[in-house]
Amino acid sequence: MNPLVNLGFDIPFDRIRPEHVRPAIESLLEQAKAAVEAIAATPGAPTYDSTLEALEAATEPLERAMTVVDHLESVATTPALREAYNAVVPEVTAFFASLPLHEGLYRRLVELAESEEARHLSPTRRRFLEKTLDDFRRHGAALSPPEKEKLQAITRELAELTSRFAQNVVDATSAFELVIDDEGRLAGLPPTAIEAAREAARAKGIDGYRFTLHAPSYQAVMTYLDDASVREQVWRAFDTRASFGTHDNRAIVRRILELRREKARLLGFADFSDLVLADRMAENGDRASEFVDRLRQRTRAAFERERRELEAFRAAQGDEGPMQPWDLAYWAEKQRRALFAFDEEELRPYFPLDRVLEGMFAIVSRLYGIRIEERKDLPVWHEAVRTFEILDEGGVLLCRFYADLFPRDEKRGGAWLNGLVTGVARDGRRQPHLGLICANFTPPSADKPALLTHREVETLFHEFGHLLHHAFSEVEVRSLGGTNVAWDFVELPSQIMENWCWEREALDLVGGHYRTGAKIPDDLFERLLRTRTYRAATAMMRQLGFARVDLDLHRVWTPREGDVFDFARAILQEHTPAPLPPESAMIASFGHLFSNEVGYAAGYYSYKWAEVLDADAFGRFREEGIFNPEVGRAFRETILARGNSRDPGELFRAFRGRDPSIEPLFERAGLA
Ligand SMILES: [Zn+2]
Repeated sequence: MNPLVNLGFDIPFDRIRPEHVRPAIESLLEQAKAAVEAIAATPGAPTYDSTLEALEAATEPLERAMTVVDHLESVATTPALREAYNAVVPEVTAFFASLPLHEGLYRRLVELAESEEARHLSPTRRRFLEKTLDDFRRHGAALSPPEKEKLQAITRELAELTSRFAQNVVDATSAFELVIDDEGRLAGLPPTAIEAAREAARAKGIDGYRFTLHAPSYQAVMTYLDDASVREQVWRAFDTRASFGTHDNRAIVRRILELRREKARLLGFADFSDLVLADRMAENGDRASEFVDRLRQRTRAAFERERRELEAFRAAQGDEGPMQPWDLAYWAEKQRRALFAFDEEELRPYFPLDRVLEGMFAIVSRLYGIRIEERKDLPVWHEAVRTFEILDEGGVLLCRFYADLFPRDEKRGGAWLNGLVTGVARDGRRQPHLGLICANFTPPSADKPALLTHREVETLFHEFGHLLHHAFSEVEVRSLGGTNVAWDFVELPSQIMENWCWEREALDLVGGHYRTGAKIPDDLFERLLRTRTYRAATAMMRQLGFARVDLDLHRVWTPREGDVFDFARAILQEHTPAPLPPESAMIASFGHLFSNEVGYAAGYYSYKWAEVLDADAFGRFREEGIFNPEVGRAFRETILARGNSRDPGELFRAFRGRDPSIEPLFERAGLA
């Protein structure tokens, strides 16, 4: 029996093998296709049950199996599993992409929308119908046959160009290396960075120290290396990546922007931002753009002040001449050390993982009236994985989740939530959810337990916030449940959790010295707090610069505006505290915007948008108590339980009693 074919709630992770993938997915795909055809061909007037409900059921077994396969490919990959995965992905992707263009299906949905039944649907079902129709239309369902063909041609070209863009960035990044023979020129670098550079050279069979544009190497050079000429060389290489030579993205960027505009027009939108944001909390490009402007106005003065302070600090250290882009990180690090000696490593002994988990569970149990218990009798994909269950006050299972928190060779980097199974709440009955959180935290060593940095603790809280959004879902439509919400809303439940990592009372629950159990000393806590607001305006301006470039490229730029790289550079210059050289070409490697068909395109503002939401929502906890179960219940009922069953703006107002304010974000950043 193929365990992927009939997946229930208890997933037999110990029995799934690579050879199960292809036969299972192929047969589930055939079933799904047949079920969709049956829905489109059902005689008589369409009903909710015979269309949308049937469609949800038609795709669920396939989605569930693909989610599990995709998950295993992320955490326990093998060559055989990857091969099987790669073999099935294109067909599955093509199937889901084909649904909005299925004429029979679309016609049934339109008929349903015009029916008497549609007027009496529950608000959630009504929303599901409207969202599905909007989504179909944004994918071309309402276009004429020649227009559909045109759209498909655009989509194909975009897919090809964005993947070439991404490939060029990878290749251009790898193409650069700087080998330094003279150890004297490495002054300033920490020993770990020197050792890594020597190792990188050795691996290539060369003498000396090898530096690259990959993040650890690049960041170490920009932050610590005393020799400004080396910093300049590396900065320039990074900044102009993929803008010349064999990996040149210049023409690709222009063409992607043209195609996206054409696609938006074809689908009846003024520009690409309006097309993308139609389904987001911001609603359209104008509102996103106004939002970015408002934050910029509010940040400008502090940004100028931070620039002057850094310049003065640098001058006082005897470094003359105008400050250059490759000086910023270097002098900022020196200034930070001079202002408050703080080393992330100092906090590590206070955050043994078990204690952190226990403390985090204690916090959410107090807030949400739940219990979290460990299970040791269930199959997992690796012995390091732990299994927990979230139970409500009456002992009813709300969610089972796995925690896979340490790195392994066969697991990808980063941290994430996977909502494996979204339960449905209907007629007073609630199916439990199944999910997992993954991370790559510092593992235990021979003589020490796993000790986390404060940043790792924040990451754990963040992912657990996503998990609670999944775990508390009480939505009657699976596709609208849990974290299936607008892109610029989905980080609210996760980011809000990070706030507890900066509160003394919460940290006392979460942190305790692994040997003595002692709480974090006051002096250390104070220094931690001050790092939070250090050069906050500069960091904010940088993000706003990316958001502005993104929106203006997708709203304002046309070939009549002149060269797209000049256009982008002028905007970025307004958000950078040092003069950019004329050949500066950051957007040639801006993968967020150009490496995917959509990705973060016209959506970069979401980072700040979500921060505004989380800072403001957390304000209510601060005002009424960070452990106040009343506020916890309100947050759970108005936001965490609702998924995408209501407009996100409405959900936010239900919790906060008003529209989001940008002030709490500025207060938190020390910029009020
Ligand atoms: Zn997140």
